[in-house]
Amino acid sequence: MSVYYRQTADEVMKLLDVTSTGLDDYEVQTRQALHGFNELTEGKRTSIFAVFLSQFTDLLVVILLIAALISFLLGEVESTVVILLVVLLNAILGTVQHAKAEQSLENLKALSSPTAKVMRNNQITEIASEDIVVGDLLYLETGDFISADGRVIESHNMHCNESSLTGESIAVAKRNASLDEAYEMIADQNNMVFAGSFVTKGRGLVAVTAIGMETEIGKIANMLETAKEKKTPLQVSLDDFGEKLALAITMICVVIFSIDLMRGRELVESFMFAVSLAVAAIPEALSSIVTIVLAFGTRKMAKENAIIRKLYAVESLGSVSVICSDKTGTLTENKMKVQYMYVDQKVIPQNELQTDQPIVKKLLIQALLCNDALNQGEKEIGDATELALVKLGRQLQLDEMLVRKHYTRVAELPFDSERKLMSTVNQIDGQTIMITKGAVDVLLPKIVKLDTSNGIMTMTDGHRRKIEEVNQDFSQNGLRVLAIAYKVIESNRPINTVDERGLTFVGLAAMMDPPRNESKAAVESCRKAGIKPIMITGDHKITAMAIAKQIGILEDPSEAIEGHEIEKLTDRQLQEQVQNYSVFARVTPEHKIRIVNAWQEKGHVVAMTGDGVNDGPALRKADIGVAMGITGTEVAKDASSMVLTDDNFSTIVKAISNGRSIYTNIKNAILFLLSGNAGAIFVVLYATIFGLPVPFAPVHLLFINLLTDSLPAIAIGLEPHNPKAMRDKPRNIHTQLLTKTFTARIVVEGLLIATSTIIAFLTGLESGDPLTASTMAFATLCLARLVHGFNSRSKASIFSIGVFSNKYSWFAFIIGFISLHGVLLLPSLSGMFKVAALSNTQFMLIYCLAILPFLVIQWFKLLFVKNK
Ligand code: ATP
Repeated sequence: MSVYYRQTADEVMKLLDVTSTGLDDYEVQTRQALHGFNELTEGKRTSIFAVFLSQFTDLLVVILLIAALISFLLGEVESTVVILLVVLLNAILGTVQHAKAEQSLENLKALSSPTAKVMRNNQITEIASEDIVVGDLLYLETGDFISADGRVIESHNMHCNESSLTGESIAVAKRNASLDEAYEMIADQNNMVFAGSFVTKGRGLVAVTAIGMETEIGKIANMLETAKEKKTPLQVSLDDFGEKLALAITMICVVIFSIDLMRGRELVESFMFAVSLAVAAIPEALSSIVTIVLAFGTRKMAKENAIIRKLYAVESLGSVSVICSDKTGTLTENKMKVQYMYVDQKVIPQNELQTDQPIVKKLLIQALLCNDALNQGEKEIGDATELALVKLGRQLQLDEMLVRKHYTRVAELPFDSERKLMSTVNQIDGQTIMITKGAVDVLLPKIVKLDTSNGIMTMTDGHRRKIEEVNQDFSQNGLRVLAIAYKVIESNRPINTVDERGLTFVGLAAMMDPPRNESKAAVESCRKAGIKPIMITGDHKITAMAIAKQIGILEDPSEAIEGHEIEKLTDRQLQEQVQNYSVFARVTPEHKIRIVNAWQEKGHVVAMTGDGVNDGPALRKADIGVAMGITGTEVAKDASSMVLTDDNFSTIVKAISNGRSIYTNIKNAILFLLSGNAGAIFVVLYATIFGLPVPFAPVHLLFINLLTDSLPAIAIGLEPHNPKAMRDKPRNIHTQLLTKTFTARIVVEGLLIATSTIIAFLTGLESGDPLTASTMAFATLCLARLVHGFNSRSKASIFSIGVFSNKYSWFAFIIGFISLHGVLLLPSLSGMFKVAALSNTQFMLIYCLAILPFLVIQWFKLLFVKNK
């Protein structure tokens, strides 16, 4: 890689002057002003004006504008004004809705935007990555995204993946930059970190030298432009459907227009007929309704701890048939507590441990040294496994801070879930000692000696068997077991993983991480919903099985398999056998990818949880990658489509349930819009075929389609969450929206609405006045569609789901009802909307006819549709 890097005087000064306190507030503000702060995020949101303009690119609007122009040329000034007014009002409403939906999605994004840890005012603070300024001291750990360029001040075996800059996926080892290098302005790939890369292992401290467009990646034009949210499959297929329909309708309009002209109908009337049909048929609100409903749905999900990062996930959630979940922290509480220690060849319950026994004290001190967790009063920092050891230390008056100060750490190999070990090198009583702790099955083969109260002895097969037995016993009770061992090494030499052998065993620590209270019920709910819950864990098989059994994931021991057994299976064999297992223990991130793949090959839609850097590929491979918000790394969050803010398995199940409801609501809203449109089309077609006058003026249909129909559609989209959504099997992701049944419902419901409208129209015609007839047709169609809004709330009858359970649908109805009566009764509007004054009897007839389709549909649902 060629890194061209110019150091500013400011930076050199800062590097020379680096103190452990970091910047203070005043410096931060000055630097924010100095460095064109936030330049990256500025100007990204679409401006309101652009959104407003985009409303006029819609095919329907274009047709309407042409219609307005032709009306104007034909001398129909009033029609022209009304069409233009309605188009304008529609554009304003569209813009407001779009802005609201965008705002809601933006807020959602902000919830899951990357964060960084910086040292400011003498303490480590977590800030949004975009708030980093030059001169900040950035604290980096495994899994962190790097959002700025910087000079490495401290590297503890820190490795970074810089593939986004170099294309090279092998991680680069980082070393401390010397002051000489800072003075000489020597920058190379090893003493600097770069924005756009991430830490694959180790940790370090970095002085930020460039942010935003000044970074190496920022210089590569447009690389940091955030990708625009892609449309979801449903939106794409609806857009596609809408376009095809619009084209077909336009063609039919042209044909009808020509036939009418040939039949001798007046030009203006024929033209109005064609425009009416176009307006009646084009489902202009479809795509925007989907966006609005998705935006509202994701907001609700965020409140329930599931942040959707990619909109398509909401749709796919309803189809999830397998959830592969981590154990620790997701199915369990991640509140580890040491229950027993095995030391000096004895199992000792934690409350009987005494530090006056030297061997017990040695074990505890080593457990605190080979450990990064801190327990400062209320504040707990670090991994739950290590915290459990720290808390045990505190309980026995061993302060981890004092112990670590006394026996300084000179080197370390951080914990790695693939290696399942961690090592540190400490200066203890004049000796340099390497302490290693980790999974018993991994550490035991590396042990050659045993430390006891009687001194150090060679490890015999008998000792080994005894340790294995104790480990087995602990694991069967659902305990996580760590082994702790050490060896003396020569001072002042770096260590690597090869050193982790020839160790002396000191003891075991067995800790309990109880299952979350909600896990059992959530697992049960999955089963009822046709979803297979699966535990995937780095933990020991026996421990995993014990916990899985408690929460109902595992019934028979044969359902558990270990990572090394998976390795022996070919992809094909794994695919054939995968459904036999519900617990996958001692797995590595590579195994996770194979497991996801095997399920997907079997046609399943898979949700997979993950938290580590190496989980990234599996999270991307899964249909729904779920990252942990609390314990997850930034890399895992970036690869996921959903983030859990509470790391809780039951939140995934709740999100699936929400996803199912949202999809059903969108489908119902679409049914409402299309069946209403179908009703209008049938009426226009009827009038054409029977040579009757135009039943609706274009402005009538505009009023219905653009104004009174949108609110009920949104209300249907906001139908309360249906708790029964989890009784069905997962939706087949390949099933098209417009199934035969769905289309049949559109046609039948459309026919019912059309029948009422035609009756009203014919009754009006009998009075001898075509204006009264079209007024009655318009009023009946509008009202019937408003009432139909209640029909479309659910497959089941409104009386079984609750007449008043969706307050939005009542608001929508009342607003529509009042608007319609405003048009019918206010003389100023009646002229504009081309409506005649109606008698009370005619009003009564309209009400009766409008409610008729509702009664028929509800009667049918009560008789034939089960309340699901
Ligand atoms: P899950 O995959 O269910 O979330 P996990 O992520 O806790 O489990 P890992 O963190 O990969 O699994 O841990 C695997 C094994 O490594 C554990 O069973 C334990 O024996 C060991 N281990 C876990 N944490 C540490 C640590 N901090 N130091 C040393 N060994 C550890």
